[in-house]
Amino acid sequence: MSELDPAVLTAQLVRDVDDLAGRLHLARRYAHLDEHPRFPWEEFRSLGAHGLLGLTVGAKFGGREFPLPVAGAALHRLAYRGGTAFAKLALQPEFSSVLAEHGSTTLRETYFAPMLAGKLLVGNHITEPGAGSDAASLRTTARRRGALYVLNGTKTQAAFAVDAHAAIVYARSPGAPDSPGLTAILVPQDLPGIHRSTTPDLGEKWMRRGTVTYADVEVPEDYRLGEEGRAFDYLKDELTRERALLAAIYLGVAQASWEETVAYVGEREAFGRALARNQAVSFPLVEDGANLEAAGLFVQSVLGELQAGRGSAGRAAVAKWMATDAALRTLDHAIQFHGGRGYSREFPHEQRWRDVRSGAIAHGSSEIMHHIAARELWPKRTDSAAG
Ligand SMILES: Cc1cc2nc3c(=O)[nH]c(=O)nc-3n(C[C@H](O)[C@H](O)[C@H](O)COP(=O)(O)OP(=O)(O)OC[C@H]3O[C@@H](n4cnc5c(N)ncnc54)[C@H](O)[C@@H]3O)c2cc1C
Repeated sequence: MSELDPAVLTAQLVRDVDDLAGRLHLARRYAHLDEHPRFPWEEFRSLGAHGLLGLTVGAKFGGREFPLPVAGAALHRLAYRGGTAFAKLALQPEFSSVLAEHGSTTLRETYFAPMLAGKLLVGNHITEPGAGSDAASLRTTARRRGALYVLNGTKTQAAFAVDAHAAIVYARSPGAPDSPGLTAILVPQDLPGIHRSTTPDLGEKWMRRGTVTYADVEVPEDYRLGEEGRAFDYLKDELTRERALLAAIYLGVAQASWEETVAYVGEREAFGRALARNQAVSFPLVEDGANLEAAGLFVQSVLGELQAGRGSAGRAAVAKWMATDAALRTLDHAIQFHGGRGYSREFPHEQRWRDVRSGAIAHGSSEIMHHIAARELWPKRTDSAAG
């Protein structure tokens, strides 16, 4: 981990982000990706070249190993400057931490190292047509046959369905000792028996989400990540960290819209005075500013706890829900107070709203975030909903 003072590190990273956002015109590219959805390889490589991929990934895996609060501040700034897209891209290695932490050296060198350079993409295939929140009900199977696993099943809603070079597939391995017995396997996406397709989305269109089917796909057993039947535990740790970091991203996006709206209603006149002179306009904006700041402090606090090794899945879940909720309300007000043009593509608020809207569903829905937090408050509950 870097020896520098976290405040100094944060200031330096924010300057790096600002520099990159200016040179690559990230705000403009963000809007462009919505109109022309495709994976932004150029920006992905630039993030890698500028050390903005793998912010929290351990140095032993080739990452920068910044403390989580420092990474959260950098992601917040990246989202403030360039919407959800580039900040989520920056987190892509973290979304594949199961590969870094549990894959073989060969797999890490072949797949994880190039991803840190922005040259290769690894997706995650968890969700299925019959099971999303309820990950214990996944049905895709990875059956052993000699030195191979044979994969069968359908994964759906997967980001980068047609763009990823490989995916971490979570499958049931019949005979694995631990319940619910999920096994993680890295699956190159060009193997025979794989079929990939996309479905148009409301937002985050550049992710080109879709369905991937596996029909008797043979994968060498050394592509397994960690132990058989243990993937659920690995995934839980990863999800806890990434939920808290995603929270910072959603707040960064909303902060941009809030500042732009505050400026706009101070200028725009109706009935002979600035919109901001109406309490129906100004009061919600006062509340939004306070809510974003409060959620931001909570998120930083949760990231600090996780960094110190005393974090909790429940508080990370609350951070994601709270940040998404505050951000969506702020973005809705931004659309509203820009009037008819706020509802159009003339302003970025509608795209930001559509993109942040995914935050209440992806990486565990807001309802499931409440379940996880409630389970920590009442640990003896038998209800085992999600995660
Ligand atoms: C932008 C985006 C990117 C995504 N990327 C990926 C990806 O890369 N890989 C991947 O595998 N998946 C991905 N997903 C899928 C995502 O993880 C699932 O959509 C999510 O886990 C919810 O599962 P589901 O869609 O099956 O909804 P369901 O589980 O069917 O839930 C539907 C609704 O019911 C609610 N609900 C379910 N159970 C309960 C309960 N016990 N109590 C209260 N409410 C409940 C949920 O909160 C939700 O509102 C992505 C989704 C989005 C939107």
